Amino acid sequence: MTAVVDNNGVVQERRLVTEIPGPRSSAMLARKTDAVSAGVGVSLPVFIERAGGGVLVDVDGNHLIDMGSGIAVTTVGNANPLVADAVAEQAHAFTHTCFMVTPYEGYVDVCEKLNQLTPGDHAKRSALFNSGAEAVENAVKIARYATKRSAVIVLEHGYHGRTNLTMALTAKNMPYKEGFGPFAPEVYRVPTSYPFRDGPHDGKEVALWATTKIEKEVGAHNVAAIVVEPIQGEGGFIVPAPGFISSIAEFASANGIVFIADEIQSGFCRTGDWFAMDHEGVVPDMITTAKGIAGGMPLAAVTGRADLMDAVHAGGLGGTYGGNPVACAGALGAIRWMEENNACALARDIEALMVPRLQAMAENFPQIGDVRGRGAMLAIELVEPGTRNANASLAADLNKYCHQHGVLTLTAGTYGNVFRFLPSLATPKALIEEALTILEAGFEKLT
Ligand SMILES: *Cc1c(COP(=O)(O)O)cnc(C)c1O
Repeated sequence: MTAVVDNNGVVQERRLVTEIPGPRSSAMLARKTDAVSAGVGVSLPVFIERAGGGVLVDVDGNHLIDMGSGIAVTTVGNANPLVADAVAEQAHAFTHTCFMVTPYEGYVDVCEKLNQLTPGDHAKRSALFNSGAEAVENAVKIARYATKRSAVIVLEHGYHGRTNLTMALTAKNMPYKEGFGPFAPEVYRVPTSYPFRDGPHDGKEVALWATTKIEKEVGAHNVAAIVVEPIQGEGGFIVPAPGFISSIAEFASANGIVFIADEIQSGFCRTGDWFAMDHEGVVPDMITTAKGIAGGMPLAAVTGRADLMDAVHAGGLGGTYGGNPVACAGALGAIRWMEENNACALARDIEALMVPRLQAMAENFPQIGDVRGRGAMLAIELVEPGTRNANASLAADLNKYCHQHGVLTLTAGTYGNVFRFLPSLATPKALIEEALTILEAGFEKLT
């Protein structure tokens, strides 16, 4: 069998030539400890020299299968040529003007694409930022301005970022919030639908728990926005029961509340649709995007109803780097790749390949309590056999096993017991199969 080679020369295979981490990575890790704040942790201390398709190459020459995509960012594959070429061309033309000082076309192109691709065919506007957290902050700013209300509703297990406001919106304490308070006020958390843990409830019924809490404890008329991840990311790839999201959206609409879909992790074909809200049949008032938007370049956006987005006075939104021209070029390259390669179908192919194998593993290993997700956003939740007690230690051990065998995997979840898969859509199928074979061997060894 001849090896597949990605456009930038990265051979698409798993190949270990040293232990993990190897000597050169270990030496760099020592320098990292001396130079970089200890607050910035790393999951797998191999230093990367090159990456393409679905493979990471470290400084010792090890080739790892990448089942994380830099946390759902390199959806179109690392160093995708359409992204890399667009970025290089733009960097040679100009790198920055500040869009708020003198504008440029790429920013407008990205906004037009967002307005066209996001759910709903109503009049929309977009604004660009640097990070997901910044997009969420701005969505809340706009919703508060437009509604003249202050309360913001978020869900149990939600994750929205690490800035002060988004820490308040985020549920999990360790490591995101511990010691970093006080947090922003007027943020209220309500129940979400977590079918594996709250039992076989109808999504509408769970939504009623949430909306009753909003009515009784906050007052719907005080609420500016409800911020919802259609599939919760860091919280553990929790897919709500059918009817939950649509019921929350209906409640928001009936009460003049801005319904904000945080699609920073689930957007851009990750779940087999352009946006996970497409699957729910829900048209949000506003949507936040980042991660997969620009093939690895830092870019984020808020897209929403024109009347809301245009409510804010000129100068009220923005930032020095927001919608940087090089990042916009990367986004246009990534979006073009998604359109030309039917990326949503590629994500569904990955689901079709992985879910049956994960389900077969769940038959063999009672530690797998749940297999869930959509498209190329999939997870297994690990428990103590016969219970729903979280098995975080097995998740950590399995993660380590995979890393040591050349597969980059990630964990997630409020209880730290979720094993998540976010391969790039450019990963050769054989590598995904191989990653699952390693995972299975890990289960055999560790259970
Ligand atoms: C990652 C993430 C964020 C924060 O994005 P950053 O770019 O890390 O600031 C917000 N919401 C969701 C759903 C995310 O997955």
